[in-house]
Amino acid sequence: MRILVVEDEPMLAAQLAEGLSAAGYVADIARNGADAHFMGDTEPYDAVVLDIGLPQMDGITVLKKWRAAGRAMPVLILTARDSWHEKVAGIDAGADDYLTKPFHMEELLARLRALIRRAGGHASTELVCGPLTLDTRSSRVSVNGRTLTLTGHEYRVLAYLMHHRDEVVSRSDLTEHIYAQDFDRDSNTVEVFIGRLRKKLPPGLIETVRGLGYRLASPQ
Ligand code: CA
Repeated sequence: MRILVVEDEPMLAAQLAEGLSAAGYVADIARNGADAHFMGDTEPYDAVVLDIGLPQMDGITVLKKWRAAGRAMPVLILTARDSWHEKVAGIDAGADDYLTKPFHMEELLARLRALIRRAGGHASTELVCGPLTLDTRSSRVSVNGRTLTLTGHEYRVLAYLMHHRDEVVSRSDLTEHIYAQDFDRDSNTVEVFIGRLRKKLPPGLIETVRGLGYRLASPQ
């Protein structure tokens, strides 16, 4: 899952990126409203953390532009303390949730999990596909209760497939959702990660859909 962090305070932006990465996400950082608007308009983010007070274009304007253009990704806004009007304006502009600064990383992660879950139509923090369980709170993956050891990339590929289980996911979709923007992306590496995952998972769970991509299929 790939997150856009829009925050002009360098320390906070770095903390957010670090906390998200530790939780198994990849994060891109935008430091002003104009960059944020462009990135959110052109890249397929699974969620956005959007500060309201930004140079060049404020967060509410950025959000309004995205929504007017039909960009529907979940957006969590960061508001200043005691500014109820920012929350109202943000929610009216299309925000899905808000957090007041200062906040605890754990709370931000919990709210993001909930937003991503709802966007995918999932009710539970545990995603299940046959014998496979992914706990989005702990980033733990298990098969029949036995924990699997996965690399960061393997986890991100599997997490994306689990969030989109029973759907066909193309290699380019996977590439766009497992790497940050500045990463040297190569869609061939997705095949390598799929190959490694298949060796760790029960046979047949990840199907290849010829010419289209992959599907994590729920056993009947
Ligand atoms: Ca700010």
